[in-house]
Amino acid sequence: MSSRPYEAIVIGSGLGGGAAAFALSRSGFRTLLLERGGWVKRDVLDWSPRGILIDQRYRSRSPVDIEGERGLHTVYPNEAVGGMSVFYGGASLRLRETDFSNWPIDYGAMEPYYTKAEHLLEVHGQAGADVHEPPRSGAYRFGGIELAPPAKRIFEAAKTLGHRPFKIPLALNFTNKDRPVCIRCSTCDGFPCRIEAKNDVAMTLLAKAQAFDLAVMPGMIVRQLETRNGRVVRVRCLDGTTKRAVDFSAKIVILSAGALQSPAILLRSGLERLDNHRLVGRFLMRHCNAVVTGLFPFRTNPDRTFHKQLCFTDFYEDLRDRLGTSVGTIQDIYTPAPEVLKHYAPFGYGSLSALVTRYLQNLLCIAEDEPRYENRVQLTTRMDDYGIAITRVVHRYSEADRLRREYLTDRARRILKQAGGLYHRIYNLDTFSHAVGSLRFGNRARDSVLDESCRFRGVDNLFVLDGSFMPTSGGVNPSLTIAANALRVADVIRAEYG
Ligand SMILES: Cc1cc2nc3c(=O)[nH]c(=O)nc-3n(C[C@H](O)[C@H](O)[C@H](O)COP(=O)(O)OP(=O)(O)OC[C@H]3O[C@@H](n4cnc5c(N)ncnc54)[C@H](O)[C@@H]3O)c2cc1C
Ligand code: SF4
Repeated sequence: MSSRPYEAIVIGSGLGGGAAAFALSRSGFRTLLLERGGWVKRDVLDWSPRGILIDQRYRSRSPVDIEGERGLHTVYPNEAVGGMSVFYGGASLRLRETDFSNWPIDYGAMEPYYTKAEHLLEVHGQAGADVHEPPRSGAYRFGGIELAPPAKRIFEAAKTLGHRPFKIPLALNFTNKDRPVCIRCSTCDGFPCRIEAKNDVAMTLLAKAQAFDLAVMPGMIVRQLETRNGRVVRVRCLDGTTKRAVDFSAKIVILSAGALQSPAILLRSGLERLDNHRLVGRFLMRHCNAVVTGLFPFRTNPDRTFHKQLCFTDFYEDLRDRLGTSVGTIQDIYTPAPEVLKHYAPFGYGSLSALVTRYLQNLLCIAEDEPRYENRVQLTTRMDDYGIAITRVVHRYSEADRLRREYLTDRARRILKQAGGLYHRIYNLDTFSHAVGSLRFGNRARDSVLDESCRFRGVDNLFVLDGSFMPTSGGVNPSLTIAANALRVADVIRAEYG
């Protein structure tokens, strides 16, 4: 490690920050990655449904207030090196060409970076299987694996109904023998991988960046950015353990704290006061998701094996003419462990829920949601344990969002019934796991806070590279797009500062 001053500071180590840190350090920039979470422990508790989903061992001490579909409530997000990629399911899909119609760049500008992101994240997939797949310049380096029995059941039922399911491209290590290989357990989506087989940011981008000049500093909370004459001159932090103030500076600053916290940092820095920045935090999206659960007259997954394997894009374009957006996708998803269902079931239903878990099989419906001015990130006047203003999120769905969700849940219900399900129930999801869009990029200052290179307008050396740049949410999981965009912008930065 050299003692040269840092040339780039990246704030946040999720898919956006991780990809930016990798690409900048590979281009020769001495890079510092600041992350408020710690390293993942990778011990037995990481696969414990109680440890992760109930006791939330990675939960932040900084809450987020939510005003939304179920009134006012407070959540404590997870935090770790690798961001939400530590907990994600690894589904790695590209947006379609049609999704770029309201973006300042077209699919062609993103395509080479999708291919790079797939290679870096070691996505296992099969080109040509997805009926709405956009053109691609390169094949996947790693192929898919055979379907587990629960996925096969859904596959066959869906084929009978005339659908065209395909294997989800997954950022999980099924085949690369140079790294720990996936043992196909049932605690993947929502959990860290204890054996390091999930291709999260720490295991891929940060591991590969060890060959370059990248310093990772966990436990470092960024409070605000200090600007002077249109440049960030200081990144003001608190050491999360000692609560001591620490400052860093570099010629380039990349903000990648996620679609909820990046706008919060900008608001704490007073940057919404710059010309045209009344849009900071606005147009937040999160997909309009639901899980459809089927109750079957047999144990649906007696071997308790991994089966998040199938995706349906058949319906993707069905409502484009009417609503101007995609509908979204349907995907396989796991059934929560009995203790989790018992814990979260309505009062009096805990034991019953735990009892039927083994007879359930689920499909996840991911519906595109609209960018709406009213949906936003703002600050409260309350302070967290570190004396930092608590973030508040306001989000409600539109009628059109609900219509897309119902369109998908209706089809998911029919597939589960065809597969042998006797009853079904729909659970609308209310999480921000797919949060995007609160700092949208665009061609015109009047309706975007970032330019097409994701530079924050009016602050020359500040770029925002995480899910907040997206002006629409599209109908597929966001992580691959976030990583690809960060790689794209890293090339712009290299050309300008390199
Ligand atoms: C359970 C789950 C399953 C998912 N499954 C999938 C999937 O299968 N496919 C898919 O595409 N997507 C999935 N997602 C979504 C995906 O993980 C996110 O879209 C993606 O990780 C977002 O990347 P990001 O860079 O925008 O932000 P994040 O991953 O949120 O990273 C932001 C980072 O910034 C850090 N940070 C925040 N504030 C500060 C601060 N003040 N100072 C320092 N650091 C800070 C955070 O701790 C975090 O590490 C899933 C998400 C969850 C929660
Ligand atoms: S399914 Fe594979 S990648 Fe996922 S947690 Fe289990 S072993 Fe890890």
